[in-house]
Amino acid sequence: MQNRKQLYFSHKQTPELAKVVEPLKERAEKEGFTIVSNYRQADIIASIGGDNAFLQAIQKTEFKEDSLYVGISLDNLGFYTDFHINDTDHLMSSIANDEVEVRRYHTLEVTLDNESPFYCLNECSLRSNVIKTFVIDVYIDDTYFETFRGDGMIVSTPSGSTGYNKSVRGAIVDPRIPSMQVSEIASINNNDYRTLGTSFILSEDRQLKLKIVQDGNDHPIIGTDNEALSIRHAHELRIRLADKNIKVLKLKNNSFWDSIQRKFL
Ligand code: NAP
Ligand code: MN
Repeated sequence: MQNRKQLYFSHKQTPELAKVVEPLKERAEKEGFTIVSNYRQADIIASIGGDNAFLQAIQKTEFKEDSLYVGISLDNLGFYTDFHINDTDHLMSSIANDEVEVRRYHTLEVTLDNESPFYCLNECSLRSNVIKTFVIDVYIDDTYFETFRGDGMIVSTPSGSTGYNKSVRGAIVDPRIPSMQVSEIASINNNDYRTLGTSFILSEDRQLKLKIVQDGNDHPIIGTDNEALSIRHAHELRIRLADKNIKVLKLKNNSFWDSIQRKFL
């Protein structure tokens, strides 16, 4: 922490929020940090807001590997946010007293057809935006696995497993396990159509390929964390665990399972 002094703030650009963040900036400057307006120069990137704001901060700053991210919440603490905006004393003293640690989160690398890859911290989802069923051929390591018919599929990281994945009854995965989970959204299962019907977890050296079976009426939506790409002529998505990890400043006494307990039980 000692030599990480260039600090960048990521938040929604509203006058209300600017007012809330101002005292934090002043405090940080007093503690010897320099506030930078270009995230490329930042050692530390502070996201102000909930998990949603954190996902936005990561996407906007391009999954910066040489920065440390910290989530500062405006209300309840989430999965990526360990600190509260009204408790900067706690943030500063935690850092000074060595109560923090850097946790690494796995990300997904997603390649659509022959374009350059993009990254996801929570999940990549693929679904139709029309009422008709959507058909996807699923390949694991280039070997055909199943044909999916239904609303779509979700591929989540371990830290994203508590998000969209959980809502479709996927398992929660400890972020220490380098893996990705594939979950179905409303698959059709009868004597004509058959899929596995449960989520499955792939190890870090596997590659998943989702081939969109075109019938001319497909309007796939690709969800990447909290953004959506609507692509008319997409053919296939290749997804694997990325080499990029996101480093996040977390409280030592707030483990992933503490957050699960706090949020869900
Ligand atoms: P949103 O619909 O406004 O928020 C979805 C909720 O998910 C928010 O409460 C958000 O927390 C929470 N969240 C985000 N990341 C999470 C995580 N890793 N574990 C547990 N909860 C998480 O959408 P959004 O704010 O743009 O967030 C995008 C995320 O929403 C996606 O990445 C996806 O995981 C999730 N999502 C869920 C569903 C579903 O469950 N049916 C559908 C679409 C998307 P905050 O309130 O702290 O922001
Ligand atoms: Mn939200």
